[in-house]
Amino acid sequence: MSKVIIIGAGGVGTVVAHKCAMNNSVFTDIMLASRTKSKCDKIAADIKEMHGVEISTAGVDADNVPELVALIKSFGPKMIINVALPYQDLTIMDACLETGVHYMDTANYEPKDVAKFEYSWQWAYQERFKEAGLMALLGCGFDPGVTQVFTAYANKHYFDEMHYLDIIDCNAGDHGKAFATNFNPEINIREITQPGRYWENGEWKEIEALSVHKPIDYPNIGEKESYVLYHEELESLVKNFPTLKRARFWMTFGQAYITHLQVLENIGMTSIAPINFQGQQIVPLEFLKAVLPPPESLGENYTGQTSIGCQIKGIKNGKDRTYYVWNNSDHALAYKEVRSQAVSYTTGVPAMIGAMLMLTNEEWMKPGVYNCEELNPDPFMEQLNIHGLPWNEKVDIELPHTY
Ligand code: NDP
Repeated sequence: MSKVIIIGAGGVGTVVAHKCAMNNSVFTDIMLASRTKSKCDKIAADIKEMHGVEISTAGVDADNVPELVALIKSFGPKMIINVALPYQDLTIMDACLETGVHYMDTANYEPKDVAKFEYSWQWAYQERFKEAGLMALLGCGFDPGVTQVFTAYANKHYFDEMHYLDIIDCNAGDHGKAFATNFNPEINIREITQPGRYWENGEWKEIEALSVHKPIDYPNIGEKESYVLYHEELESLVKNFPTLKRARFWMTFGQAYITHLQVLENIGMTSIAPINFQGQQIVPLEFLKAVLPPPESLGENYTGQTSIGCQIKGIKNGKDRTYYVWNNSDHALAYKEVRSQAVSYTTGVPAMIGAMLMLTNEEWMKPGVYNCEELNPDPFMEQLNIHGLPWNEKVDIELPHTY
């Protein structure tokens, strides 16, 4: 019996709102609040039509703590599910502390003027959340999120010591557009154009953006060229699983996508430094976002699958052990269920599950700031199978690309 406020009405917010409404025995009162209220109203109308559930909506500027505090006080939720942008994480955490409400998000805080991905800002809230008896669950989407639950599950059930981790993320879908990003274009392009980074032998190795790549064979999909990127869950995974000698993150990109990106980068369109245009300061990347298709518009006619998983090598009972756990999701099926493509679906479903566990499972409700691998993975794995993200696993198989 819990009231929640979901903040953010983009691709991911759409899925979280649908999924919470579809589980309204747990989420008894739902409010969807975002910068543009009309987007919330449109999603609420779809939810009423598809699932017969009424949700409330509101406009809010999540950069503004007093505005957030007023909204939270007026609705009285038990927790906030933050699926706005990473820039809003700290203001929403501040508002949660001020109103005594639990917090969850799907991406770590980033300052708007520097593309810097790290948990330090949010981990610094540890004592304040503990003292207030509140929980903040960080990065509970798919990656970050499920990839850490997968790793924790592997560690708990299959390994005495994990040594090598490769998170492999493939989108083999086709949305029919010449160039579009599957989640917020600004955040996506900032992430991809940064130097790559991976963990090896106790230190971070930095590489030029998209310079390390090779084909990886994905289940039901086949071989796709995959690139080493820095991804935020690596930071908490190597901290929480110190036996890892190496941890890397791979993501697939088609050649056409990379060519578009290179052109945009070469002509300065991906820059986050403001420029003066006809007397007005504009950030080229923000302008680019405004002309690209919004991620929530890609769902209709999107075909193909995503496949995200963890390949791990280590030791069990003194012997070498390999383990692969993954989920494949289908864009068209996701659209049919919640009017959204699979990238938003695979993020929104775990966000709903994380919130559901925080509200219903004692093990998943602890005061303090946590990453997903720090909690018992078993109930989460169970819920993935129930709510649309079934997973598969293989033990002691060849992992050819890993070495
Ligand atoms: P979108 O850009 O589609 O949606 C973001 C939403 O946040 C929009 O509705 C936007 O409002 C709203 N918003 C932005 N700024 C504010 C503000 N100041 N106040 C109130 N609302 C605001 O992004 P996505 O849905 O694709 O992504 C949402 C989050 O999920 C991001 O943080 C992203 O990094 C994360 N993510 C995580 C993944 C994972 O696996 N962990 C994978 C994919 C995404 P408006 O409509 O007015 O612009």
